Amino acid sequence: MPNSSDTFKTGERVLFAGDYDCLICKSMGKATRLTLEEQKIFPFCPGCETKDATYRRVGRPAKLAGR
Ligand SMILES: [Zn+2]
Repeated sequence: MPNSSDTFKTGERVLFAGDYDCLICKSMGKATRLTLEEQKIFPFCPGCETKDATYRRVGRPAKLAGR
């Protein structure tokens, strides 16, 4: 499976349902966390209003969190 990166950008498809932090917000000292479902599209970030936001998954993907 493709697993080269844990980061995703606005417009990409959500591969794993879960929580995602906006890295743009993080770099500005804010914490914006979105809970997204599988097959959704990553939205614009409501925290920093960046149209090309970068998100990082929080924790492990549900499908791999079997232990
Ligand atoms: Zn943001």
